[in-house]
Amino acid sequence: METLYDIYRRRGYSRRDFLKSALLLSTALGLSSSMLTDVVRALETKPKPVVIWLEFQDCAGCTESFIRSTSLLPADVLLDYVSLEYHEILMAPSGFYAEESKREAMEKHRGKYVLIVEGSVSPDRGGAYCTVAGRSNLELLKEAAEGAGLIIAVGSCASWGGIPHAYPNPTGAIPVSEALRGRQVVNIPGCPPIGDVMVSVIAGYVLTGKSPELDSMGRPKTFYGQTVHDRCYRRPFYNAGRFASSFDDEGAKKGYCLYRLGCKGPVTRNACATIRWNGGISFPIQSGHPCFGCSEPDFWDRGMIYTPLSVVSGGFGLKEALAGVAVGTAVGVSVAYMNKKLRGGK
Ligand code: SF4
Ligand code: SF4
Repeated sequence: METLYDIYRRRGYSRRDFLKSALLLSTALGLSSSMLTDVVRALETKPKPVVIWLEFQDCAGCTESFIRSTSLLPADVLLDYVSLEYHEILMAPSGFYAEESKREAMEKHRGKYVLIVEGSVSPDRGGAYCTVAGRSNLELLKEAAEGAGLIIAVGSCASWGGIPHAYPNPTGAIPVSEALRGRQVVNIPGCPPIGDVMVSVIAGYVLTGKSPELDSMGRPKTFYGQTVHDRCYRRPFYNAGRFASSFDDEGAKKGYCLYRLGCKGPVTRNACATIRWNGGISFPIQSGHPCFGCSEPDFWDRGMIYTPLSVVSGGFGLKEALAGVAVGTAVGVSVAYMNKKLRGGK
């Protein structure tokens, strides 16, 4: 069976390109440099992951984010590496043949395939609100989950119910973990989630044969262990009490903290501030927009995108401000380092 290294060679990439991806993958997974040789060996020998990707109550934005994940693997390699045996948007077969190829893949790779679910599940009215090929989403989910080696809920819809679950939740939308009580589900929330995080979790499963270490809400600790605020490059301004008060004031032009414009970074766990988006180029806060907490449960119902979490009482003293700048500089340096690596710099 084809491995990641085989794909690199078939696509005409050099050994150096392959080693660079191995290094980036191990960095993204938080593995120590001493494990790099093991990672390289595994990527040279372990077969590529078989993925069955189901879509229920979704907008396909998570898929869009996944196929734009090019920081870790080049786009052509990614789509060859992750063997998408079933995906309503990306697969070639349709209708009866699509369902048949899913059944065959589930049988052939029983106990080993990765099941990815995008979108929430609606069990109401016998699942009548969401059906594929005349079968309810709940029935399809349980069938595919039974033989899966790893189950991943991608996006806030699959992880928490997301926008379909927002008040008044007309379809009775629930998250995948609730529909599959008793099974371990890896939640990768975000609306959409970061593509490189999805790729890292799948590759991590190939490398280790296990789920990543999860927090109490089923999220991989490596990517959701800290808040956006913990690693935000604007943090020195927050600590120094320097805030933008409108999108075009002097503070905004100087890149001050966006807390007063409603930033939810302090209560949002995600890796946006380190991995960033579109090949590590930027993320909402870097574009001048406050984080609105899309990876947290019920973010839509909490609303108030531009309302501050609480009123900030003035600035801090000089000592705290200088300490803040020091912390922020350290955060900024590590962010810059990570992004440079992701973009292929030395
Ligand atoms: S999490 Fe967001 S991007 Fe993903 S399917 Fe739901 S609404 Fe779309
Ligand atoms: S912009 Fe948001 S995440 Fe960044 S320091 Fe300010 S409050 Fe925190």
